[in-house]
Amino acid sequence: MAINYVYLNELEIAKDYFERGNSFFEEFKMISQLADNFKSWSEAMASIKHYETAYKAHLRYKSLSDKIFNTERESRMLRIKELFQATQKDQEIEKLAFENQRKNIEIENKSLEQKIWLLSAVIALLAFVMLSIFYRKLKSSNQTLTKYNTKLNEERFIDPLTESLNRRFFEVQQRERILTSSEVSFSFFVLDIDHFKSLNDTYGHACGDYVLKIFCQRIRNSIRQQDNFIRMGGEEFLLVVENSSFENDAMLLKKLLLLIKSKPLEFEQHSLTISMSVGVASNVSIYDEKSLDIALELADQALYKAKNTGRNQGELLDLHSIPLANVINNYELIASKTIHGAE
Ligand code: GH3
Ligand code: MG
Ligand code: MG
Repeated sequence: MAINYVYLNELEIAKDYFERGNSFFEEFKMISQLADNFKSWSEAMASIKHYETAYKAHLRYKSLSDKIFNTERESRMLRIKELFQATQKDQEIEKLAFENQRKNIEIENKSLEQKIWLLSAVIALLAFVMLSIFYRKLKSSNQTLTKYNTKLNEERFIDPLTESLNRRFFEVQQRERILTSSEVSFSFFVLDIDHFKSLNDTYGHACGDYVLKIFCQRIRNSIRQQDNFIRMGGEEFLLVVENSSFENDAMLLKKLLLLIKSKPLEFEQHSLTISMSVGVASNVSIYDEKSLDIALELADQALYKAKNTGRNQGELLDLHSIPLANVINNYELIASKTIHGAE
């Protein structure tokens, strides 16, 4: 049993057990020999009929046998006690080992839990980063798309040569604006460059293009932002002016005629003086498609008159509060004014 304590490193206890066992062993050996001696002695005395001595030796033998029995019992008790203690110790060790194991598992679980948390956090962070990258990319490509769409839309309505609004703009947007703005009055200026064909013929098509560009730039720079200047085709243009008056239109017309005629254009080594003729349907209230067409037709008629009566001039028709349907074939009923350009 002492050896168990050696394994447990309880050397003091082990030594104590060993010494006690040893002394039992010695004592037991001596007593056994003595008992055997007395037994042999008693038998020998009995055989020579010394019964009294044999009896005494027998008594000694008996008492020693009892002692042997007691010693054995004590030793057994000791062994039982030892076994009990060893078992207790074993159980304690087992309990400790179990506790240790439990603690280890607990630690392992904790560290596993921490790892899972860390991993989840890393995954969440990664997902967030990736999502924000995707979101930013999507946003930027959406912005680019919107930019392209806007540009495309703008370009749809821009004449590439003169960078003025084009006829499509008039058909798609301007018409709509006019027809849905019942509170607004409109003035329509139809402009046509004089003798443009001969300019082309004399100086070439490139010269004609250049003149068109400069002509448009000059007009655009002289009108309000809310008014639209539209190239309807060739060298014909439409200026739509909102909420004006006959007097204001007359002033604007004078200004534009001077602007075009008085400042020559330089093309290569040529100094070119150009002029234009203008027909104006001034201050019209538009209530439907038909009234709009009549107003434009009247402006065309005014232009025709300006062309036929000498060019470099404008013919203004005062259409304020006039029922358009009544005047379309009675041109003379309309009050008009002729504005001449510079000499
Ligand atoms: P009027 O005074 O009666 O208006 O005579 P005009 O010569 O100006 O008018 P006409 O209609 O006889 O000629 C217009 C010319 O404009 C014919 C065409 O070749 C030219 N033209 C139309 N578009 C362009 C263009 O984009 N560039 C150039 N260079 N010429 C153009
Ligand atoms: Mg012309
Ligand atoms: Mg023309």
